[in-house]
Amino acid sequence: MSKTLTFLVLLALLLSCEKPHVDYVLSWKGDAIGVSVDVISDQDTILFSYSSDNGGQTDQMSWIHDFKITEGKVLTDSATRTFSVLPDNGKACFSYDVQCTLPEGYGSPGGCLMDMFRPDIDEKMLYSRTENIFIIPHGEQNADIAVNVVWTSTPDYPVFCLYNPGHGTEQFKGKVSDIAFSVMAGDPLLDLDTLDICGNTHFLVTALRKNEKMNKSDLNSFFKTIYASISGFWEENYNAPYSFLVFPFRRNTFEVTGNGFPNGFVSRYDATEDTILNLNRRDVYTHEIGHKWMNNGTIWFAEGFDEMQTGYHLVASGLEKPSYFAKYFNHALRGLHHNPHKNATDKEAEELFWDDGDYTWLLYWRGFSYAFHLAGIYEKETGVHNAWKPMMKAVKPFLDDFSAEKFIEAMSKLMDRKRLEKDYRQFIVDGKDFDFFPQDLPSGCTIIREKDGTPQLQITDSILFAGHFK
Ligand SMILES: [Zn+2]
Repeated sequence: MSKTLTFLVLLALLLSCEKPHVDYVLSWKGDAIGVSVDVISDQDTILFSYSSDNGGQTDQMSWIHDFKITEGKVLTDSATRTFSVLPDNGKACFSYDVQCTLPEGYGSPGGCLMDMFRPDIDEKMLYSRTENIFIIPHGEQNADIAVNVVWTSTPDYPVFCLYNPGHGTEQFKGKVSDIAFSVMAGDPLLDLDTLDICGNTHFLVTALRKNEKMNKSDLNSFFKTIYASISGFWEENYNAPYSFLVFPFRRNTFEVTGNGFPNGFVSRYDATEDTILNLNRRDVYTHEIGHKWMNNGTIWFAEGFDEMQTGYHLVASGLEKPSYFAKYFNHALRGLHHNPHKNATDKEAEELFWDDGDYTWLLYWRGFSYAFHLAGIYEKETGVHNAWKPMMKAVKPFLDDFSAEKFIEAMSKLMDRKRLEKDYRQFIVDGKDFDFFPQDLPSGCTIIREKDGTPQLQITDSILFAGHFK
């Protein structure tokens, strides 16, 4: 065999056993991010996908520009935002630009169709969920495919990538699931601070517009306290960094909003106020951190029980008094009672979830009320005051793979199954009003009715009530 032939055979062998991987090369274009994708795979076809419907969006494809295929074949289905990639000799290459100018007038204040879910890219700011940048191999079966992300040119301001915390735009090697749902944020004022929480290093990422010193110190001490409380509750031992990303809106579409990820959260907020850490934002930040543990499953659980967790930890951490929990819960009771769709079935409410307006919060409030109701039943049957702990201990093993059936099964070890099934069907599945019978409530409180029938929690014995947050 000639040397050339030997080389070619070896090369062919090498290529044929190369593991499938996807390389993303990102380049900064001033008002766009250029993305070039190399796919190495011996499969005939791999399905790729782009972005999700989060935020009720349907126009994700509108910010992909200049799509070009240089090797292999790519068949695009813009209706489902999927791409069938057909490699040629084990390789396919394509490129596109991600560009977004925020449309005028979209998204009513308080609505879901807002800056949170779409890329916002220019010489003054970069914000995007990564699923709005990367077209990635689709589905769980491809979640472990290796990815490599390289920036060849970057904005002249710092950028933070949640999938590569502390390393800015340096090369990232990981897998599809690392970049599938993540976020990148860049800003001339971007600041990265490390937080030591119980001996582990975490990141505070901000781009403060006002009172930098005071706001940073407030955020720092708040996150240390609340994160220690929640992660301590779940008895978490591993020390992977968690990122607290507090980023201003370009426009002030909303006082504050956020998204939780397993490795951090991002909040966007109205930066015109002097003080960042108002009460509402502490609630939102706590809720988003809570999603590190409650991120899967149905909305009534992931959002509603996360609301219970939020109220619980704001008190259990010592940041608030037990009366704050009552105030927080009363907001949910009021919202639920006056919601025009309060008796929508669970299925209907899930379908309405991303529509603007009150639908959005219906399952948060219903789930929160249900969590509180179960805590009362558990206490009634066992005499245990801090019901939240055993209840969450029971669901912990399947938090990543949650289902209502598993939830009922786990809870039935703590309380009467018949009652449990009846209540679940009535309050969650069918969306009936909660009874709030006094005998079923956690101790130290009662539910009164205002003139218009709005249920409101009243603390009747502050010492007994405080026992729920031990
Ligand atoms: Zn949430």
